[in-house]
Amino acid sequence: MANALIIDIPFPSIDSVELFVNKFRYSVAQVAAQAQAKRPDCKVYVVTGGMWNADGSACPLLKADGEWISPKPWSSYGYAWDSGPDIMLTLDRDAKDNFWSTTCLIGPNGPIEKPSYDKKGQGGKRGRAGIGTKQGYLRLYASQDGTADARTPEALRDDMAADGCTSFVMGDGGGSAQCWFDGQTIKGDGRKCHNYIIVYVKKESADTPPDKEDNPVSKPVVCLDPGHGPGCANGSLDGSYKECEFTWDLYTRLRPLLEAQGITVVGTREQKIDYPSLSARASVSNRAGADLFVSLHSNAAGSSARGFVAFTSAPPETAARNKLAAAIINRVHAAGVVLWGSGLAHEMYTVLASTTAPAVLLEYGFHTNAQDLALLKDAAYRDKLARATCAGICDYLGLEVKEPDQESGQPNEPDGWAKEEWSKAVAAGIFDGTRPRDGLTRQEAAVVLDRLGLLPEKGA
Ligand SMILES: [Zn+2]
Repeated sequence: MANALIIDIPFPSIDSVELFVNKFRYSVAQVAAQAQAKRPDCKVYVVTGGMWNADGSACPLLKADGEWISPKPWSSYGYAWDSGPDIMLTLDRDAKDNFWSTTCLIGPNGPIEKPSYDKKGQGGKRGRAGIGTKQGYLRLYASQDGTADARTPEALRDDMAADGCTSFVMGDGGGSAQCWFDGQTIKGDGRKCHNYIIVYVKKESADTPPDKEDNPVSKPVVCLDPGHGPGCANGSLDGSYKECEFTWDLYTRLRPLLEAQGITVVGTREQKIDYPSLSARASVSNRAGADLFVSLHSNAAGSSARGFVAFTSAPPETAARNKLAAAIINRVHAAGVVLWGSGLAHEMYTVLASTTAPAVLLEYGFHTNAQDLALLKDAAYRDKLARATCAGICDYLGLEVKEPDQESGQPNEPDGWAKEEWSKAVAAGIFDGTRPRDGLTRQEAAVVLDRLGLLPEKGA
C-alpha cells in the first residue's frame, strides 16, 4: 500500500471536474463508486476537498454548480472552473460556477512563504490532500496520515514546488486526507469528508502516455527499480550468484542507455547499499510523476524452469502496462533471449499495484536453472538485456531508438522537437551534423555568430 499517491492528468484528457458536497456522508470509496456508475466511459479520480466547520457547516469559500455553500467574504486564491478542463487558480471567486479554496501553498508569484492556516487545526505533520497545476497537467495529491509521507503544510509546499508545480492548494488533512485514483486509494481514517473533488478522465486518453510532441521540452521520465538490496538471500544454490547484485549491475548498465536516448531516469535507490521498502519504491515513482515504472529481477523455481518473463498487475492487453510489457518482450525475444511461456504473466506485486504509472516487473531468467544462471552471470549477456530493455521502453514511448555516437556515447540524432531546426543549421553550414546534444562554449558561439554574418568586421 502506498503512503502517498500523486496523479498528473493532462488537461486535454479531462472530461469534467465535479465538486461533490457530501450531504449523505459517503466514504471516499462510495463517492468513487457512484461517480464511476454515473460515467462508465471515464476513469474516476477523487480527492478530499475542504473541511467541516465545528457546527457542521462547510469551511469557507466553497461554491458548487453555481451555488455558494460557504461564501464567507474573505479573499484567498483557489481553483475556479465551469466544466473542468478550464480549471484555474484565481482570487476571483465569482469567476466561474465552481470555486474551491482551503490553503493556498503556491500562488501566482510562486511558493507562499507563510501559508495561511489554523496552526492548531491544520498544522504539524499530517496526511495531506490537495490540488495543483504543473506545465499542462492537473495534479491531485493525497498522503496517508501517521506515515512517513505525512507533511507539514510548508514541507508539502516545498515538495510540490520542487516537483514543478506552478500552483497548489492544500485541502483538508489528517485522517481526512483521502483519495481514490482509479482504484488506488489513500483511506485516511475512513471518516466522511465534507466535500470531494472528482475528476473524470476520458478513458481512451487515460491509458495513453501524454503526447510529448505537444510539449517538446518535457522529457519522458522512467522510474527504474533495481530489485531487493544487500542482505537479500535470493541467489543460486552454489552461492556464486546473488539476485541483488545482478539487479544493481543491470541497473547501472540500463540507466545510461536510457539517458542517452533523452529519457530522464529516476532510480528507486541510488546506492548499492540501499534497501527501500516496496511501497517506498512505488512512492519514488509516484512522486516523480514517472511515465512508466520498471522493476528489475531474476527468478527462482525448480531447476527446469527457465527464460524471461514480464509481470504486470492484470490484463487487459490494451492497458498501458501490458503495451509496455509487450514492447519489452518483443525486443528481448528478438535479441535471442528464451521466453518463459508467452513471456507475459500477471501478479499483484506491491510495486505493480501501488505505482500510478504503467508498471512492469521483469524477471530476466531463473537463477535456479543452470543454463539461465550461466547467462545471467555473463557481462555481455547483461549488456544485451540492457540494450533490449532500453529499446522496448523507447518503442513504448514512441521514441526512435538512436544509435549512440562512438566517442561521446550520445545519440547522433537530435530530439524530435529540434529535428527541423537542426537540419536547417546543418544545411546552412552552421554545424557539421554531429553531436547535436553537445554544449556550446563561448568561442564556439562566436564562430556560429560569425558564420551567420552577425558580427561586424573588426575595426568597422
Ligand atoms: Zn526478485
